[in-house]
Amino acid sequence: MTNDTLSIETERFLSRRVLRVQESPTLQITTLAKKMSADGHDVVSLSAGEPDFPTPDFVCDAAIDAIKHGFTRYTAVAGIPDLRKAVCEKFKRDNGLHYSPDEILVAGGGKQAIQNAILALCDEGDEVIIPAPYWVSFPEMVKIADATPVIVQTTIEQKFKLTPEQLADAITPRTKMLIFNSPSNPTGAMYSEQEIRALMNVLSGKDIFVISDEMYDQLVYGEVAHFSPAQISDLRERVIVSNALSKTYSMTGWRVGYIAAAKWIIDAAAKLQSQMSSHTSSISQKAAAAALMGNQEIVFNMRDEFKRRRDFLHRELSKVQGITCTLPEGAFYLFPSVEGLLGKTFGGTTLQSSVDVADFLLKKHLVATVPGDAFGTPGYLRLSYAASMAELEKAALRIQKAFA
Ligand code: GLU
Repeated sequence: MTNDTLSIETERFLSRRVLRVQESPTLQITTLAKKMSADGHDVVSLSAGEPDFPTPDFVCDAAIDAIKHGFTRYTAVAGIPDLRKAVCEKFKRDNGLHYSPDEILVAGGGKQAIQNAILALCDEGDEVIIPAPYWVSFPEMVKIADATPVIVQTTIEQKFKLTPEQLADAITPRTKMLIFNSPSNPTGAMYSEQEIRALMNVLSGKDIFVISDEMYDQLVYGEVAHFSPAQISDLRERVIVSNALSKTYSMTGWRVGYIAAAKWIIDAAAKLQSQMSSHTSSISQKAAAAALMGNQEIVFNMRDEFKRRRDFLHRELSKVQGITCTLPEGAFYLFPSVEGLLGKTFGGTTLQSSVDVADFLLKKHLVATVPGDAFGTPGYLRLSYAASMAELEKAALRIQKAFA
């Protein structure tokens, strides 16, 4: 039986839902890079948004304590009281947001937290506006909820930021939600308070919800201060703020994320979670509470190091003819245009698309990146600079050599 026959035969058994969703390309490419490394290739992986730092010691200690003290059983679905309280403290301290613990839902990573919120609010026929470039999971999560992603393309000229005019044009009577993400994955772009107020003004008086993915709120490099749409008091009831421990505390594998929203939204999302995964690990929850309540100096140190890496990789990429790179203000990604490389031949390979560029870099020069296509914007590449400086130096040299 050929693979094709196999897929046609099995496909008819699968739900329409799973057939219309695509696998996370960031995780797919990262898995491929890991496999190539395991097979003995010296691959530099700039594909996943995963900090190379170890999880801080005091956070690991809190987890070890949890295990030693038998904190290994079911917890409340929405999270342990300590952690829900710690999340409220974090919002107050870092974001000027005031929530009570019953307005917080802890989930198995930012991904699950966002998916819960979308599932709780969206139905078939609902439209969800997503500015592109977008994080790979947003449109797929909307499709999982049977709703329709409405992609609005932004350009490098507008610094990849949605304008109020674009938002107004995208709204229809079916619009249920906007997914907003500042600092952005994949571009690192940040919206100023003024820009966010102008955008949110468009939603005023409308029954449109906003998921504000603030995963990178602490990874901001100076120029623009982080601002949350939930800080606009008229809008607070319609905004679902999502965040996680993964990037800020280098805790990707612990799977702790959370949303803050009006209690009725949290209750609905928790109801779904109670039937799907119950809650994230009791041990991870103890560790997360320790991370949020502990000395935040570790976060500032990691941020300073990311800034150094951003400046380095930006400088080195900008030396390559055919690559145009804006300096991002937050997160840990560069999103350069590679359009200047298209149609050209390097080492016998002609590059026709950003997928070709990413493929060429991985297969011929052992640097894993993600093509802009995965984020809804072909012609670009995403490079994560959450890798060590030594790896970044190696990657920069290889990229320069590849396009010399
Ligand atoms: N959020 C990270 C990224 O964009 C992790 C991978 C994923 O969850 O898709 O690389």
